[in-house]
Amino acid sequence: MINPIVLKNIGKTYFGSKIPAISDINLEVKKNEFLCLIGPSGCGKTTILKLIAGLEQPTGGTIEKPANVGMVFQSGALLPWLTVEENVAFPIYAKGGSKEKAEDITNKYVRMVALGELKLKYPRELSGGQKQRVGIARALASEAEVLLLDEPFSALDPITTDELHEYLLKVWGETHKTIVMVSHLTEEAVLLADRIAIMKDAALKNIVEVNLKRPRKEEDKKFLEFLEKIKQELISN
Ligand code: ADP
Ligand code: MG
Repeated sequence: MINPIVLKNIGKTYFGSKIPAISDINLEVKKNEFLCLIGPSGCGKTTILKLIAGLEQPTGGTIEKPANVGMVFQSGALLPWLTVEENVAFPIYAKGGSKEKAEDITNKYVRMVALGELKLKYPRELSGGQKQRVGIARALASEAEVLLLDEPFSALDPITTDELHEYLLKVWGETHKTIVMVSHLTEEAVLLADRIAIMKDAALKNIVEVNLKRPRKEEDKKFLEFLEKIKQELISN
């Protein structure tokens, strides 16, 4: 199995900035892996996602990645004038797909995140959690092997977030995507990830394997012990 994402000695200094947003990042993401990137605000997490998505170019190092990635944004970033199904179909039409293909793929992913009954609604008629499910279905509709998520649930309440964690794990299990997700919640990373990449001051500090059996439960003793270990890792130097 070839690793779909390989970052070698990656650095990025934004235009006009004197200090690098990230420096000397070495990271390989394995096929079908769920990797979470965590670290304090401003440490360079979003920059790494943008480089993988091809939305920014590195100023140093080399990067291997698939040409096509699906991305889920914090706000959902839906098009307000399109219905749920039209939003999900958008990447298919954008790539010149036929109406039949768009309908097939859209139906599949709309069903996967249980949005069937809402497919003719507009974003303004949806709750925050429903919007984020549309965002996930739309990213899946691009049929990319890699799914990138940048703090996708940070604007949602804890109960909705729990529900979306379930959907995301279901989607991951059914589609075998490689997932890279940025999170600011250590609990979320321990709940979801195979490995957690811990960042600090523009650098990758450590990568930790989450050796907890699935399904994981946040109240389990082992979960809490592991969580504590990661939290210590985050605050230590
Ligand atoms: P995080 O997602 O971990 O909060 P970011 O990757 O967004 O961090 O930002 C890392 C650093 O790069 C920060 O110091 C931020 O101010 C800077 N930065 C991010 N985007 C830009 C940009 N477009 N232009 C200039 N500086 C940026
Ligand atoms: Mg960010």
